[in-house]
Amino acid sequence: SLLNSQSSNTKPGSLDCFITCDNSYNPEESVNDKNWPLYQFRPGYLWVSDLTRQHWCEQQLHYSLTVPGLVEEKPVMTQGTNLHLERELAVHDIVDVKVTSNEDIWTIKVLNMINAIAGFMNGGSIAREVPIFGAPFEKDVFIVGLIDELRFDPKEFSIELWELKTRMRKSLPSKAQCSQHQLQIMLYKKMFDDMVKGLLKKDTIAKHLCLDFQKEFGEDIQSHASRLFLSSTNLEELMEDLFTRMQCLTCIQSIGVEYVHQDTKETIGMKREVYNETELQRLYNHYLGFWCGDRKAVGVEIEDAWKCQSCDYADICEWRRLKAEECVQKNSKT
Ligand code: SF4
Repeated sequence: SLLNSQSSNTKPGSLDCFITCDNSYNPEESVNDKNWPLYQFRPGYLWVSDLTRQHWCEQQLHYSLTVPGLVEEKPVMTQGTNLHLERELAVHDIVDVKVTSNEDIWTIKVLNMINAIAGFMNGGSIAREVPIFGAPFEKDVFIVGLIDELRFDPKEFSIELWELKTRMRKSLPSKAQCSQHQLQIMLYKKMFDDMVKGLLKKDTIAKHLCLDFQKEFGEDIQSHASRLFLSSTNLEELMEDLFTRMQCLTCIQSIGVEYVHQDTKETIGMKREVYNETELQRLYNHYLGFWCGDRKAVGVEIEDAWKCQSCDYADICEWRRLKAEECVQKNSKT
């Protein structure tokens, strides 16, 4: 069963947590650091989806954070969510668990990771909706994600990662969308492999998420941990357990995206992607520049201006206006 937090007084990594936490993210930070988008718009850590949206258009992401309410959830997103849920329920049940603290909420993520690994060790071949987190490339930024599907082959002792994407049209996506998906799954692989290699440390997690690893689990969490035959009573012990199990696994051998037509639910195509760590690190460093206040958000370059045609912020976009002016000036000179 996959655990789901039922109710909570505290949201994971909420701004409250960041402000009040004694074990703050960076004790030496200056007042200016609080103005970094990483703290202004996020609780001191990022979701993988933040980076993939940034990969499409950073200016668009920035508008979505600063001009709220302009975009509503589109039906395609809702249908995509339903299909994900359907697939998830095909491999496990979802159990609601009462949480009483941020520590409990993160414990659920760890329990679900342990559950996925234990499934593989007990003959299972598929795990869905597997949480993942890490601090890739030794940067002092923490990233959280959710892997759609891991496929384990016990004979080969290999793991494949597959991301599910739903499509309105019965065709494969554009090169630009594929590149966004590739970034997403490369990041998942990087964080998963880092854990397998023992590169992620408990201290890093506790520091970035402002968690007290010694805090005892809430009652409901404790009883679910016992049902999974886990003796841990706090995150310190549970994380140790997770790391030990992860280090018995193998790195992800291949990554890919399954494209599914949302109306018929038929698979349009299974596209394997290449993992390119050099390119991932280059993109990652560039994107963190925005989140860590090194540079302002930038929009798309002229060759990607087609993205502006379907952008909800096109009418208010300053970047687009300035680029259009630049073009007019350039043309008037020639
Ligand atoms: Fe980005 Fe173009 Fe939208 Fe501006 S109009 S936010 S540059 S996609």
